[in-house]
Amino acid sequence: MLLSPPHLGGGEIGAIAASLDDGWLAPAGPVPAAFEQAVALATGFRHVLATCSGTAALHLAYRCLDLQPGDHVWCPGFTFAATIAPAVQMGAVPRFLDVDAASWTLDPLALARDLRTAARGGVLPRAVVAVDTYGQCADLPALAATCEAHGVALLSDSAAAMGATRHGRHAGHGSRMAAFSFNGNKIVTAGGGGALCSDDPLPIARARHLARHAREAAAHYQHETTGYAYGLPSPLAAVGLAQLPLLDARVAARRAIAARYALGLSDVPGIALMPEARGGRANRWLTAIRVDARRFGMGGEALRLALAAAGIEARPVWKPLHLQPAFRGVPHAPLPVAERLFAEGLCLPSGSAMAPEVQDRVIAVIRAAHERARHG
Ligand SMILES: *Cc1c(COP(=O)(O)O)cnc(C)c1O
Repeated sequence: MLLSPPHLGGGEIGAIAASLDDGWLAPAGPVPAAFEQAVALATGFRHVLATCSGTAALHLAYRCLDLQPGDHVWCPGFTFAATIAPAVQMGAVPRFLDVDAASWTLDPLALARDLRTAARGGVLPRAVVAVDTYGQCADLPALAATCEAHGVALLSDSAAAMGATRHGRHAGHGSRMAAFSFNGNKIVTAGGGGALCSDDPLPIARARHLARHAREAAAHYQHETTGYAYGLPSPLAAVGLAQLPLLDARVAARRAIAARYALGLSDVPGIALMPEARGGRANRWLTAIRVDARRFGMGGEALRLALAAAGIEARPVWKPLHLQPAFRGVPHAPLPVAERLFAEGLCLPSGSAMAPEVQDRVIAVIRAAHERARHG
């Protein structure tokens, strides 16, 4: 059983066929435009650019900030490398901050403290990137207030957070630009794809220009700057368009899966689900647990292997970026929470098509592993 396989809704094949019939086998035409409108409706953002990946959307966001080599960009150390990779490739200097244990997202208090220190030192970051961990929204209102006080741009890597809310607002709101992913493993998918969202029309217009090779309006090929081929092809947009109406049902299904794990594991010593943030309604893209080796009887990695032996895919939570060879030497704050999460954390099968009986088998394997560890 896989961690988070795509969950088809039935309408995708017809939607692809229709998109081929309309003659636009390209990242252009009416279907990508309709997909953008559907993303705007689902997220509440006024302006949306469909992209070929979430990472492409993040890259365009950095370009729209005019990020320069040597500029500083801060992000949580507990995230997927794609959050910061485009900025590093542009020559920016990252810095990794810790997350708070109550939400596993960027700690607003730590950010406020570090920005004050940076302001005193005279070197503020160009941007801070918040991350919606496994579909749990970061506290963007608190982070935005701190960033605004220092004139620092706030971006949101909401790649996994379609359908999640915090304080009643959809993921990404409160940031200047938010990036979403429609990769095959996400809660709704286009097979591959992303979206850059903002309430400000200017960065989205700029990103749209850059995503189409920065071609100027001229009959010949005219470029004032260099761009990218980052559009979302029409057939993939058609898949995304078929999936988006299913979003609410997919969120409900993933939340039900998290609740079933919570119930089925509630009496198992040493197992704790990732907490839900105050004021938040996570989409529970992945159910993540912490395994206290002493109380459970074995650590997260031993449990992962026990699950793998039963044909069940679980995966360690993100290895923090400051521990990645790719980011050796990158400055970082102390990250005790991120390190602890990596030592203890495991993501469990969370696909929205998983049947309750199948999930019960995952729970049974975890319970049996505990019994074995305790008695043998
Ligand atoms: C999936 C994901 C990405 C990357 O999205 P792609 O569409 O695969 O490029 C970036 N950040 C986070 C937090 C993600 O979960």
